[in-house]
Amino acid sequence: MGQARDDNTPPTIQRVGVIGGGQLAWMMAPGATALGLQLAVQTPHPEDPAAAIAQHTILAPITDVDATAVLAGQCDVITFENEFIDCDGLQPLVKQGTIFRPGLELMTLVLDKLDQRQFFQQMGLLNPRYVALEGGEAPEVLLAKAQPVGFPLVMKTRRLGYDGYGTFVVADPSQLTAVWHTSGRAPVLLEEFVPFKQELAIVAARSARGEVAIYPAVETQQVNQICRRVVAPARVSPAVMASMATLAHTLVNGLDLVGVMAVECFLTKDDQVLINEIAPRTHNSGHYTLDACVTSQFEQQLRAISDRPLGPTDLTCAQAIMVNLLGLEASGATHQERLAALKAIPQAQVYWYGKSPRPGRKLGHVTQCLGADADPAGVAAAIEGIWYGAET
Ligand code: ADP
Repeated sequence: MGQARDDNTPPTIQRVGVIGGGQLAWMMAPGATALGLQLAVQTPHPEDPAAAIAQHTILAPITDVDATAVLAGQCDVITFENEFIDCDGLQPLVKQGTIFRPGLELMTLVLDKLDQRQFFQQMGLLNPRYVALEGGEAPEVLLAKAQPVGFPLVMKTRRLGYDGYGTFVVADPSQLTAVWHTSGRAPVLLEEFVPFKQELAIVAARSARGEVAIYPAVETQQVNQICRRVVAPARVSPAVMASMATLAHTLVNGLDLVGVMAVECFLTKDDQVLINEIAPRTHNSGHYTLDACVTSQFEQQLRAISDRPLGPTDLTCAQAIMVNLLGLEASGATHQERLAALKAIPQAQVYWYGKSPRPGRKLGHVTQCLGADADPAGVAAAIEGIWYGAET
């Protein structure tokens, strides 16, 4: 790992290791080139997107600590594109001098949605009402615990949930036990169903020196609990934009973040911002920054973890939309035909991650920059019409 240094001499970070080789690592490539950084990734499959752009790939599961030890020997700093890592297993590497950015304490916090909720509460931030189950409680205990939360409620597996997998809306008490059985009676959170008017997200970066850069808050819209589209900036009042920025600021400082983080929130009818969750990495809600901001979230992550100054976060256009291309029920040929039709839209930037199609899997996304008078909903609907057709 990096050489010994005194406090006045920052290390010269040139080689960045990334745990995870999916599309988030893949999209770091232009930023790494711009900053003159080398990327090495640890990812299980040679066909994973970032294996195509990394200078070096270690083929191993992201929880393989021995593989990360090898990665550490080749890199000056290690960052993450996926949070489902073995934090305890990585601790000995810290003692040996490996620099993880973000640090393992923060990565550990986000592994369990209960720990996140408790942290937000300690920080005085607004959570939906919630209770936690440890797993295996008797049906009557389950019902008693759910009462203060009320119905409808949202049941979420506390660990390893993503893209809505592990999240279930429970309409009334009669469904509670059956839904819990589908999650294997795992440890879960029961959350008040927030009747939000919008879902918002914000990406922020912080460097080891404490420099903070915050992107504009955006609106995310989910279909079946998976992000379908993003509108930037969020169409909310200046006061809500300001609360989102303050929230991001509070969190990145409170968590001592080094890197990039996304905060996902619910906006209630009376303009209260409740936190849903955080992700200490680049995020789907920030993909639009590749085309619509001075510095992309991917370059920003690399800047933050490599002790470079953070870049400006301003939008370069009045507004932008991002539409996710999720795997269709239809055959592979149809994916290619629809992809070609999207590429033919002159103003659209199409990103295709090169992953094998599976229904619901994130395969790519499209960004379009818009003028102040454009209707983001109409532009997104046109793109979705090409990709999804009659599918929802
Ligand atoms: P994941 O970590 O799997 O992405 P989330 O907690 O982000 O799970 O939930 C996915 C989606 O489910 C959210 O974007 C939102 O649309 C819906 N959802 C989650 N929690 C709630 C809640 N408490 N109230 C209403 N909707 C919710």
